[in-house]
Amino acid sequence: MERTLKLTPEHEMLRTTFRKFVDNEIVPNYAQWEKDKIVPREVFKKMGDLGFLCPWAEEKYGGVSTGWAKGNPVPDIIPDMIMMEELGWRSVIGVFSHLHNFMTSPYIDTYGNDEQREKWLPGLVSGEKICAIAMTEPGTGSDLGAVRTKAVRDGDDYIINGSKTFISNGVLADVVIVVCRTGEGYKGLSLIVVERGTSGFERSKPIPKIGLHPQDTATLYFEDCRVPAANLLGQEGDGWGQLMSKLQPERLCGCQLSTAMAERAVQLAVQYSQERQIFGKSLGSFQNTQFVLAECATKAQICRTFTDTMIVNYMNGQDITQEVSMGKYWVCETAIEVASKCLQIFGGYGYCEEYEISRIYDDSRVFTILAGSTEVMKLIVSRGLGVK
Ligand SMILES: Cc1cc2nc3c(=O)[nH]c(=O)nc-3n(C[C@H](O)[C@H](O)[C@H](O)COP(=O)(O)OP(=O)(O)OC[C@H]3O[C@@H](n4cnc5c(N)ncnc54)[C@H](O)[C@@H]3O)c2cc1C
Repeated sequence: MERTLKLTPEHEMLRTTFRKFVDNEIVPNYAQWEKDKIVPREVFKKMGDLGFLCPWAEEKYGGVSTGWAKGNPVPDIIPDMIMMEELGWRSVIGVFSHLHNFMTSPYIDTYGNDEQREKWLPGLVSGEKICAIAMTEPGTGSDLGAVRTKAVRDGDDYIINGSKTFISNGVLADVVIVVCRTGEGYKGLSLIVVERGTSGFERSKPIPKIGLHPQDTATLYFEDCRVPAANLLGQEGDGWGQLMSKLQPERLCGCQLSTAMAERAVQLAVQYSQERQIFGKSLGSFQNTQFVLAECATKAQICRTFTDTMIVNYMNGQDITQEVSMGKYWVCETAIEVASKCLQIFGGYGYCEEYEISRIYDDSRVFTILAGSTEVMKLIVSRGLGVK
């Protein structure tokens, strides 16, 4: 099926160079990073050197001005989407450079002032600095509006107290965008940047997880952590609106990664069904195998078509809140189902770490939880329908 997403020769070139990077630098080392539960910082540096980080940033900050940069009416998010697809197609999404590129650093570009952009963007584009966003707290996940981490103004500083958990790139991060309470209710949330080395800012070791092993996920602690008031992004109380606008592309990212994993799962299962002999014939010759693979391929194709359409609509400046909530729910749930059914085709081998399909099964699982769970997505969709 021809894709609705049209790629330029520049996009294709990026795909070729990024694929080479994934094959040469990521795939051979990935199993070790899974054991280490973290990706070495140098990987980000190498990606920065090759132009794979924050391509949307303006040239003066080291980027190639493809996206969100000021004065660019149609943000080209395809470079980021291509890189996510390539990581998904090789089952190495735990590198989580997409979090740095697409889900965190853009806050600084969009909501930062010139001084803040000049201070942080060059390091984020070069890979010398790694970015994270800290919303979730031990007592507050889906109910983001109930954030308790407090930032109190004291002269030219804020003093932050509280903790955040499940923070992706939490150990590696140098620049952490922290969702803080500066007032009451939704209008009392603000985004404040806390940098590595700030006194009163500590972090845990990576939290052991059932999948996405190289993606370091940490708990962050803030105890009388004093940061300059100049680290506030936008105005006090802007936080909720800033989050709501950037959570849409973050959810699109979940759809893109899940779709790529579903496509890879089908590809691997089709291949295996042709190689494996049982009862004297190929596994693929059994009608059950044919039906399962036909169902999985159909679902992966629908994920692809829906996701590509959302990407195009987003780049056309449309409000995709409703469709990306539908997509985040359905695509991510479907990818898990496809991964599970494809794993079944492998029998016992599918349950072994040596087989790539097992990693897809593990890694796809988290996407119905993070960046807004399936249940939260259904709430948004039903509100959009006017259901009360
Ligand atoms: C690997 C990983 C990486 C993460 N990375 C980050 C990160 O970088 N930054 C960050 O801030 N957070 C991050 N998170 C946190 C993630 O966003 C939260 O886990 C998520 O928002 C859910 O919050 P919770 O875990 O507290 O679950 P809860 O909010 O406690 O939800 C528990 C269950 O209740 C359901 N539920 C919630 N509301 C309703 C409702 N109204 N009706 C019915 N059911 C409901 C949920 O869907 C879920 O099934 C990450 C999580 C993981 C696992």
